[in-house]
Amino acid sequence: MSTTVRGYAAFSAEEPLAPFDFERRRLRDDDVAIAILYCGICHSDLHNARNHWGNATYPMVPGHEIIGRVVEVGPSVTRFKVGDAAGVGCMVDSCGHCAACGQGLEQYCENHATYTYNGVDLQEGTTTYGGYSERIVVSQDFVLRVPPGLDLAGAAPLLCAGITTWSPLRHWQVGAGSRVAVVGLGGLGHMALKFAKALGADVTLFSRSAAKEADARRLGADRIVLSTDAAHRKANTGRFDLIVDTVPYAHDVNLYVPTLATGGTLVLVGYLGPLDPTLNSAPLVMNRKTVAGSLIGGIAETQKMLDFCAKQGLAADIELIRIQDINHAFERMVRSDVKYRFVIDMASLKDAA
Ligand code: NAP
Ligand code: ZN
Repeated sequence: MSTTVRGYAAFSAEEPLAPFDFERRRLRDDDVAIAILYCGICHSDLHNARNHWGNATYPMVPGHEIIGRVVEVGPSVTRFKVGDAAGVGCMVDSCGHCAACGQGLEQYCENHATYTYNGVDLQEGTTTYGGYSERIVVSQDFVLRVPPGLDLAGAAPLLCAGITTWSPLRHWQVGAGSRVAVVGLGGLGHMALKFAKALGADVTLFSRSAAKEADARRLGADRIVLSTDAAHRKANTGRFDLIVDTVPYAHDVNLYVPTLATGGTLVLVGYLGPLDPTLNSAPLVMNRKTVAGSLIGGIAETQKMLDFCAKQGLAADIELIRIQDINHAFERMVRSDVKYRFVIDMASLKDAA
């Protein structure tokens, strides 16, 4: 039998999120049911709920930074037992047989990974609903183990903000002596600072806000550069091996290219869409520079990142909110008024009207 679950949903691009009851499927053999304790609020939740990417289906229950406790397992589940702490990120399935899946790159599945919400379940053709809810049912292959020692609320944002910044830092082999810059100090940006520092890099933050300097330094930055200040950018010409750009909206990437060292890479993880203004290839060609993109990370890589965080005592800096305050949190996120990730305390769902 399916289970009726309480959550919060967007019903259109314009309306505020509101309570929504829906069905979670009956467990398949390899499924794990998780009672959700915490769910982070990602800027992607806002993009999706407001249909910025043009592919929204409503009602939509957002949320892909999920931490909870296992409350039920299917008969063939071997990796989890009732009572375990567990996490779910942006994906709940993929084809499992393409070249990308074979390499543990499920996020780049050639047949399209199934997203945790606003996706289509491969077996039943139903819409997936995310973590702004009391319970989720996911195949054990897409459930992460939460190592002991991690603060559960602070671990929730690792499932998206964490892995999305960890994966490019690892792919571009950041380590001791690397010079890394991060553009934008929000949910992704603050994890990028922490990870780059923990990996031994020299770390710079580009921000529009000088007021963020003290926080940036506490989070791992060695310096902050005001992204709106041309002279300040110029003083950093040719400096960076890797720039992780987390800005969510169209912005001028050309401003950052001169700060790359020869052979350096600027990786876009924030904005999805045509660049405006367009990208000038000349400075790329003249110094073998790269502008690249990166999407979350694979399941095994996500597990490695969580294990690293437990070992290093790393987690997100969060502001815990009640789910009734979700629409206010979205508004504050638009104003970049977040330090540095909102996480919903799902116990508040019981108070929902
Ligand atoms: P966030 O918490 O809102 O942080 C974004 C930061 O970017 C802000 O704090 C701000 O930093 C800066 N910013 C915001 N608006 C800007 C603008 N118009 N121009 C320049 N800078 C601006 O967002 P987030 O949750 O970190 O997500 C960032 C982006 O990554 C979103 O677009 C999200 O959809 C995307 N994302 C991608 C992936 C992936 O797999 N690639 C995964 C998760 C999220 P300052 O105030 O310091 O300038
Ligand atoms: Zn996200």
